[in-house]
Amino acid sequence: MVGTYSSAQIADWLVSGRNLFLTIHVFGVACFVYIVARRLVPLVRAQRDPRFDQPLARLGRVLKFWLGQWKHPRYNFAGILHILIFAGFILLAARAFTVLIVGVSETFVMPGLSGKSGHIYNIVTDYAATIVFLCMVVAAIRRLVFKPSRYAVPAKYGKGHTADAVFLLGLIALLMVADSLFAASDAAGHAQRGQPAETLAVLSLPWLLQVVTGSMPMATLWILNVTAYLVHEVTFYFLLCYRPFGIQFHVETSLFSIYFSKLERGTLKPVRWGVPDEHLDQVKSFGVKKFEDFTWKHMLDFYSCADCGRCADNCPANAAGRPLSPRFITIKARDYAFQHYPVLGRADNSNPLIGTIYSDDEIWSCTTCGACEEECPLLVEYIDKIVDLRRGMIDDGNVPQSLQKPLKALESRGNPYGKLEKKKADWVKSPELRQTGPVKVLDGKNGADTLYFVDSITSYDDRMQSIGRSTARILSHVGEDFGILGAAEKDSGHEVRRFGEETLFLALRDHNTDAIKASGVQRIVTADPHAYNALKHDYKDVPPVEHISQVIAREVKAGNIEFSPVENEANVYAYHDPCYLGRHNQIYDDPRDVLDAIPGLKRVEMKRSRDRSFCCGGGGLMLFYEPKEEQRMGVLRVRMAADAGANVIVTACPFCMVNIEDAIKVAGMEGKMSAIDLTELVDQHLVREGCIRAVCTGEEKLQTATCGG
Ligand code: SF4
Ligand code: SF4
Repeated sequence: MVGTYSSAQIADWLVSGRNLFLTIHVFGVACFVYIVARRLVPLVRAQRDPRFDQPLARLGRVLKFWLGQWKHPRYNFAGILHILIFAGFILLAARAFTVLIVGVSETFVMPGLSGKSGHIYNIVTDYAATIVFLCMVVAAIRRLVFKPSRYAVPAKYGKGHTADAVFLLGLIALLMVADSLFAASDAAGHAQRGQPAETLAVLSLPWLLQVVTGSMPMATLWILNVTAYLVHEVTFYFLLCYRPFGIQFHVETSLFSIYFSKLERGTLKPVRWGVPDEHLDQVKSFGVKKFEDFTWKHMLDFYSCADCGRCADNCPANAAGRPLSPRFITIKARDYAFQHYPVLGRADNSNPLIGTIYSDDEIWSCTTCGACEEECPLLVEYIDKIVDLRRGMIDDGNVPQSLQKPLKALESRGNPYGKLEKKKADWVKSPELRQTGPVKVLDGKNGADTLYFVDSITSYDDRMQSIGRSTARILSHVGEDFGILGAAEKDSGHEVRRFGEETLFLALRDHNTDAIKASGVQRIVTADPHAYNALKHDYKDVPPVEHISQVIAREVKAGNIEFSPVENEANVYAYHDPCYLGRHNQIYDDPRDVLDAIPGLKRVEMKRSRDRSFCCGGGGLMLFYEPKEEQRMGVLRVRMAADAGANVIVTACPFCMVNIEDAIKVAGMEGKMSAIDLTELVDQHLVREGCIRAVCTGEEKLQTATCGG
């Protein structure tokens, strides 16, 4: 064939007959379908994950987080840039499709876009192409000149990603230029022939190119037109097929990733979807050990990450210099998938992930604070994956030395300290509580409407028992008929579960569930956000649970609580949102409302507050684990409070209290900074009967007859 035609004749045949364009279309689409099919192979081999429920709720998330780009403005400049690019892409989709079809069918018009609506659409998309082009230029300058630190790749994670990012930005800019030149040369050609031409949007990229090319000879315009078309078509398909090899794959996958994202905060995935707890003994291997142990959704997350670095930028473990960056949990897994499931060649069977792409310390470093998930614009999940990796390590007997003792104590005594069960209710014997009336122990002889679930740290830690006493005094003050389980209460198991010890968690949960049911209570109150989260999300069939801050806020609003003014007006208070109260359960306002109800209390917000709160260092078993780190998270947090101008940090969690009080000492800020639990502060300022707005402060006054409540 080739021997009988000159190359010019072949080129002429290809172009004039539209055969070249059609060939590129078919080849481009075929390559894309093949590549995506190969990328789906690991997802087919992955663990199941039932995410097909609640279609309306899921659709709502797509509208909010995908179409509405809800999380992007959390980083102002980058967010606006992304929204402009995304909106431009959405607007240009029909235009790009039309341009592709026009190559093989010159008179093609997208349905609904003929006549006036077509003209309006063309004007809008002229500007859209211009804005996307300019955004590419700005983004490239930002990457190359300003180099935001969150894009940096530490040496331990390999090469930087800037070259790839700039290459992709260049390709998209080229696509916009080719599209605009195609429109400009077409309009110029029509104008020269005296035919009606499409009016291009003034000052848009196509308009400017028309100004430049308008006086060129027809032959040159024709070459420009065909070249622009070819460059557009080849770049379009190249981008389409190149994206599944890197971060730009999120363009294709993000919609699905967001649709199938987790709907309920604070929850944890079961060991195996579809396997009920009572049949867990039949599961041969717990957790994630090899890549195929991840669920298909978690693999989809790996493909969907845009490498924006927001998760790592907000991760307290990363900030404290622990060997963990959530961004690289994802990037390493994606690289692993690309390497072991290549587009060309056979998939190769996987190796254990721990010891190859992840280290033990990396996986133990996470406090499950949820900052990464809160920040991620694509709703990539981390906690379930990290807990699944821990389950795998525990299943292999790979438990950090320092955690072995508390885990054994939890197994034998039901608390991590190894203390005797009969001592669990010793804190209620305090003289301070005698004046409010004894706290009932719901042991079958006593009944109550409400259970105060105390949990291990508040029951056994001398300092935290003060939170227990304040909680009991507040509940008494508002007339709550309450009691505690005493020796019958075991640790809630919240941290045990998040450390991957599912079997031990189930034993604790089942024991507590039986004890709660036997007590006959109608509702549960706790001052511990970890217990709150466990009872709310990890337990089944127990009465509704509230955090004490919710109870206090409600009673304040109902006028059942009155506060005396703060004694020291020089004090400035900052509220620290505990992760399991705030991010995981969205309780941000109640504690603040309570503080604001105390007359004279000056409150400031830390820069990182509410859903951007900075973890104090991890509750629960993190108290027993010493991760490698450059500085303490708690110390960073205390400095944030000082930067905000506060000298008192108010917490609403006993674990936060331990970490923050410790951090104040480590930071050398004793005397300049103090910490107090919300319950303690409320207890100090409660106006009790007989107090007549006296300043009823502290434990010493609580022991007086005047303020005996
Ligand atoms: S949950 Fe918190 S500590 Fe863990 S990776 Fe995410 S941000 Fe970091
Ligand atoms: S996981 Fe989310 S926040 Fe983290 S780098 Fe990827 S897209 Fe950005």
